[in-house]
Amino acid sequence: MTQSRPSIVIVGGGIGGLFVANALVAQGLRVAVYEQAPALGEVGAGVYITPNCVRQLQRVGLGPAVEKFGAKVGGDSRYFHHDGTLIAPVQVTDSSGWNATYGMHRADLVDMLAKALPAGAVHTGHRCTGFERHGEVARVTFENGAVAEGDVVIGADGIHSVLREHVFPASRPVFSGTVAYRGVVRSELVPQWPAASWLMWLGKGKHFLTYPLRAGTLVNFVGFVPADSEMKESWSAAGDPEALRREFMGWDPRIGSLLRQVQTTFRSALYDRDPLPSWTRGRLTLLGDAAHAMLPHLGQGANQSIEDGMALATILTNTDRTTVLAALLAYERLRRERTAKVQSGARANGLRYDTFHGDINIRDAEIAAHAEFRKRLYDHDVVPEARAAALELV
Ligand SMILES: Cc1cc2nc3c(=O)[nH]c(=O)nc-3n(C[C@H](O)[C@H](O)[C@H](O)COP(=O)(O)OP(=O)(O)OC[C@H]3O[C@@H](n4cnc5c(N)ncnc54)[C@H](O)[C@@H]3O)c2cc1C
Repeated sequence: MTQSRPSIVIVGGGIGGLFVANALVAQGLRVAVYEQAPALGEVGAGVYITPNCVRQLQRVGLGPAVEKFGAKVGGDSRYFHHDGTLIAPVQVTDSSGWNATYGMHRADLVDMLAKALPAGAVHTGHRCTGFERHGEVARVTFENGAVAEGDVVIGADGIHSVLREHVFPASRPVFSGTVAYRGVVRSELVPQWPAASWLMWLGKGKHFLTYPLRAGTLVNFVGFVPADSEMKESWSAAGDPEALRREFMGWDPRIGSLLRQVQTTFRSALYDRDPLPSWTRGRLTLLGDAAHAMLPHLGQGANQSIEDGMALATILTNTDRTTVLAALLAYERLRRERTAKVQSGARANGLRYDTFHGDINIRDAEIAAHAEFRKRLYDHDVVPEARAAALELV
C-alpha cells in the first residue's frame, strides 16, 4: 500500500456491497469485493427502486441500464381493500413530480452493478470468518484461508453479518411474525394485468403486492401472510403455490387469476433489527442490512443501502489514510438517524397494511396521507449533506 488514498475491502457482493464498490470506483478509489457465494446472484424476485436511490444510480452512470432492465412504475398505481375496492393512489414520484420508480429483477440489478466494476474487482467463493486490526491495517480472513488487507473494511454482509459482531455485541434479529411468498409470472400469461402499476391489496393480517419487472415482461408478486411455527424456523425456503393460493382465496378475483399462473414460489420469514447505537469501530464500518436491517413494508432496504454507499463514497473522496477514521464516523453520523427512521417507519407501515391498527377508516385515511411521507423519502438526496460532512473533515 504505497499510495496515500485509502484502499477499501468490501465484504458482501449483494446490492449494497456492489453499489458502494461502484460509487468508490467512480471517486477513483481502489476496491476489492469478497462474496461468500460461488457466483454472484440473487433470489428470483423483484426489488422496487425509488427516486432517492435512482438519483444515485444515475450519478455513477447506471441510469441507462436502469431504464433498459427495469420497468417504470406509473401513476396508475393503487392501494385496494382485499375485495378490490379502491383505497387510494400510490405516490410514485418525488415532490417535484419526477417519476423514477422502477421494478427490477434482483438478478438484473446485481448483474448490472457487477458488470460496471473493473475486471477482477469481485472475488466470489470467499466467506469471511474474521476481522483483525494490525496497526494501521485492517485485515479480513476467509474460510478458504485467504486474507485481504486494506485501510478500510466495509461490512456489507447482510442481516446475518459476521462483521457486525466486531462492531457491536451479537444479538438476535427480531421476527415480525410474517412470511412473504415471492415469485414472478410471465406477463404474457396474464395479458389483462396492468403493465406499469404498483398494486397492493390489504386485508386483515395479510397483504398482496404486485409490480412489473424487466421492461414489463414479468409481473412480480409478494404475498405477506402470518407465519406458522414451521415457517418461523426457516429463513427462506421453497413455498407451496397451492398454500399461497389458499391464503388469498376469496380476495379480489384479479389476484386469483394471477396466482393460477404461479408454478413456483419461495417464502422468506421477515426479520429486522432494532437500530444500532453505532456501526463503526476503527477501520471497520457497516452498510445496508448489516447496519440497519429493516422490514420490506416501505420497500427501502436496498434503496437505503444505495444511499449508504453514495454517502460513504462521497465522504471518503478526499480522505487519506490519516483522516479515514474520522470519515467513517462522519458517514455513520450522517446515516444513522435517517435509516433508523426508515426502519421504524417500515415496522409501522406493516402494522398499518395488516390493519392491526383498529379502525379501518382511520387506517385508510393514513394510507392516503402516506403520500406526503413517501414524497419526503423520495426527495432525499444524500450527496449534498455528505459533501458538507466531508468538508468538515478537512
Ligand atoms: C420480501 C422482501 C421484499 C423486499 N423488497 C424490497 C424492495 O422492494 N425495495 C428495497 O429497497 N428493498 C427491499 N427488500 C430489502 C432488500 O432486499 C435488502 O434490504 C437488500 O437486499 C440489502 O442489501 P445488502 O447488500 O445490505 O444485503 P444482502 O442483499 O443480504 O447482501 C449481502 C451479501 O453478503 C454476502 N455475505 C453474507 N455473509 C458473508 C460472509 N461471511 N462473507 C462474504 N459474503 C457474505 C451474501 O451472500 C450476500 O451476497 C425486500 C426484502 C424482502 C425480504
